[in-house]
Amino acid sequence: MDCLKKKILSEGLVLSETVLKVDSFLNHQLDPSLMMEIGKEFAKRFHHQKISKVLTIETSGIAPAFATALVLNVPLVFARKQKTVTMDTDCYTAEVHSFTKNTTHTITISKKFLSADDHILLIDDFLANGEAAMGLIQLVEQAGATVVGIGIVIEKSFQPGARKIKEKGYPVESLVQIASLQNGTVQFLNEVNHYE
Ligand code: 5GP
Repeated sequence: MDCLKKKILSEGLVLSETVLKVDSFLNHQLDPSLMMEIGKEFAKRFHHQKISKVLTIETSGIAPAFATALVLNVPLVFARKQKTVTMDTDCYTAEVHSFTKNTTHTITISKKFLSADDHILLIDDFLANGEAAMGLIQLVEQAGATVVGIGIVIEKSFQPGARKIKEKGYPVESLVQIASLQNGTVQFLNEVNHYE
């Protein structure tokens, strides 16, 4: 997805050899036009699948997942990282270790928003070690629903998440794949050029 690559190259900040900061368009400030392009692209890539709901995890998965759900014309559900007083007590839960915060927390979704006949498209902003995606898969499995695929905005292919999820048999569609963040530069997979 060329417009996303350009945005990463012009606005992304390489914080370390493993962390990319994209808070100007995805993780803090949002670029709504780009989010809609992302939504259309995910809808196109999964058009052959029967999808009844999009599922993501708060906070940064919500914008791309919302755009995708809008294009697919299905509801979007996001797993919560903290239980609130208004939340139902009847919930599915899974433990997720956060890559960026280095903490483990329980993600939760109310049982009434996932049912056994649901066909779920998972969407998230980044794929690193696959913890968030595996947690979401567990929630879907607890409901007896089906994961039809996983859409990732930015895959860091030098980390094991994509491989782990594909090994479990789930189709992964990543809009960009980053081969390396070494030397302060973003190198996309299958491209020999280094970008400053
Ligand atoms: P995983 O669970 O696959 O290890 O990590 C994915 C989650 O961690 C994403 O939901 C994202 O919020 C966060 N994350 C992982 N790597 C990065 C990164 O390089 N930059 C940012 N901004 N978030 C990341």
